[in-house]
Amino acid sequence: MIIAIDGPAGSGKTTVSRLLAKQLGISYLDTGALYRVLTLKALEENINLNDGETLQKLASTMNVKIEGERIYLDDREVTVEIRTPLIDKNISQVASHPQVREVMVNLQRKITYCKDYVVEGRDITTVVFPHADYKFYLDADFNERLQRRYKELKEKGLSVSWEHLEEQLRKRDEADFTRKVAPLKKTEDAIYIDTTNLTLSEVVNKLLSYIKKKTIFR
Ligand code: C5P
Repeated sequence: MIIAIDGPAGSGKTTVSRLLAKQLGISYLDTGALYRVLTLKALEENINLNDGETLQKLASTMNVKIEGERIYLDDREVTVEIRTPLIDKNISQVASHPQVREVMVNLQRKITYCKDYVVEGRDITTVVFPHADYKFYLDADFNERLQRRYKELKEKGLSVSWEHLEEQLRKRDEADFTRKVAPLKKTEDAIYIDTTNLTLSEVVNKLLSYIKKKTIFR
């Protein structure tokens, strides 16, 4: 069973997916983390982020390991490092290359092959799993998403100005919604949930109730 969830940055996808998977007793995959690890590796190796072919090679040979919420690159834990503003700033460029996305899509399908997973990202309901058992699109007002991202960084002890973060989030939204390959969009069959005024558990309960309803009527 695959539960596919897409949505913009700060829509609550990652936390909701984690909680939902826990409630259902299945695994979850944060596909953004894979793009983040690749961006970190590319920056560390001084790779030109316009060079799709070299990035593709890097993506197909990178040694990434996911253990629950912890992410490892070449056996080094990078859980916090991949969520810094430096990665946010550069990730859209890395994720824009079709060659990179092809490797990533295959990797995501390989990780989840024949298993029950909640998978979240930007192109999960459209490209990676267009025939997923359940499809959701999570959203929230821009200001609410900005606030959530600001709080998340503060909690991690990372300092960033509100204005800088706002500019970065706008740029990342723009890139995610308008890129040529696999832009973020809601499919007709995905259930839209506005999380702006909902608590995390309210969102998870909503998803669970849709899943239960659909399972009953199958
Ligand atoms: O989900 P998160 O905000 O961590 O994703 C970071 C970035 O990775 C996105 O802004 C997007 O550019 C890229 N991404 C993607 N496709 C996915 C997941 C993430 O292009 N499935």
